[in-house]
Amino acid sequence: MPQAIIVIDLGGVNCYLIKTTTGFILIDTGFASKRADLEKALEAAGCKPGNLSLVILTHGDADHADNAAYLQAKYGAKIAIHPDDAGMVESGNMGINRKARPDRIAFFFRVMMWVTSHLTQSPKFEVFKPDLMIGEDFKLAGYGFDAQVVRLPGHSKGSVGILTAEGDLFCGDLLYHFMGKPACLFISDQADYDASLEKVRRLKVKTIYPGHGKAFPAEAIFGK
Ligand SMILES: [Zn+2]
Repeated sequence: MPQAIIVIDLGGVNCYLIKTTTGFILIDTGFASKRADLEKALEAAGCKPGNLSLVILTHGDADHADNAAYLQAKYGAKIAIHPDDAGMVESGNMGINRKARPDRIAFFFRVMMWVTSHLTQSPKFEVFKPDLMIGEDFKLAGYGFDAQVVRLPGHSKGSVGILTAEGDLFCGDLLYHFMGKPACLFISDQADYDASLEKVRRLKVKTIYPGHGKAFPAEAIFGK
């Protein structure tokens, strides 16, 4: 049975809530500054402390992982991340396992980084210890979710996607979709990134749900 996907847009950062046969799974968590909006959306869907069984982080960046410590404490949710990005959320240093000079930073991304660091007062990232280290062998079926973890390094070393049996791919920051053709705005390692994109091309993906921006058909990237 296809699972219901609830899109929660937290100021340009997407979280995806999946209603499973046993409860809820949340993919990414947004910035702490949007916590009230996140909780409102969870509540509206019937997700509350006790039935949020799992939070999967597509990678360790603050815009995706900032509410994880809170959800872990208040909802009793287990937080899952790939081990290569675990150091980021355990230390708050988002440069861990990334190139000191990333292979690509799009102009738009540079502007966003400047605005975030100069014009907004973002509180310090709340570090935490993840409960589960996940890779491609991780069994999501045990959480009532017919889907698999796909390793997609490039944006960060521990980036993962979640591919459902229906062909929906939650791709994290492999592709942003703000305007025009979906693309990645920050690539730490270009060779890893190219291999990840090729991997997605070969998988039977129908719809891509990005970390930022609207969902789009895989054809928008790979053609028919
Ligand atoms: Zn992001």
